[in-house]
Amino acid sequence: MRQTAKVVRNGHRPAAPVSWGHHGGGWIEAVVGSMFSGKTQELIRRLRLSAIARQKVQVFNSALDVRYAKDHIVSHDLSKTPSIAVSRARDILRKVAADTQVVGIDEVQFFDEEIVAVCEKLAGQGRRVIVAGLDQDFRGEPFAVTCRLMGVAEFVTKNLAICTVCGNPANRSQRLSPGKKVIDVGAADKYEARCRRCFDKRVSP
Ligand SMILES: [Zn+2]
Repeated sequence: MRQTAKVVRNGHRPAAPVSWGHHGGGWIEAVVGSMFSGKTQELIRRLRLSAIARQKVQVFNSALDVRYAKDHIVSHDLSKTPSIAVSRARDILRKVAADTQVVGIDEVQFFDEEIVAVCEKLAGQGRRVIVAGLDQDFRGEPFAVTCRLMGVAEFVTKNLAICTVCGNPANRSQRLSPGKKVIDVGAADKYEARCRRCFDKRVSP
């Protein structure tokens, strides 16, 4: 059944276009921010709205993200959504169903750099692609993959957390345990949100 495109012309730009279809559909939404900024919650919220509208949704996450379960993405408030864990970005293209309209990808910074081309391909096929991920690593350095996706995305939402030290808006993830690995999977026991003034690059043991 062909969907009729509806365009909002009230002067407000919606968080995302209200129609999708073969005529002009296909775009990328990037939801980025530090840890504890509600990125995964926001991803899950958007996916649920799509599901309520009976759009076919598929969710992917990296096999590296083993915090909770391999067949779900889970936000820190423990709301969860089924997902498919893949090791490489290109596996998403193999596993996406022909009739999937909305593709969600969580913790996108865990993927190899081919994820950018994969997202562009999916959007080019007329799908809505929603990626969520960290924009900075524990040193406060931008994650290349996330930043490149922000560059090619139609819609970018940057979430802020609240600094656990001073209460100001926080955009950094403070690692609480020592270690040099750029990717160290963990949650509340290993990291906390900090603003730029309270962020300490030198990781205290
Ligand atoms: Zn602070």
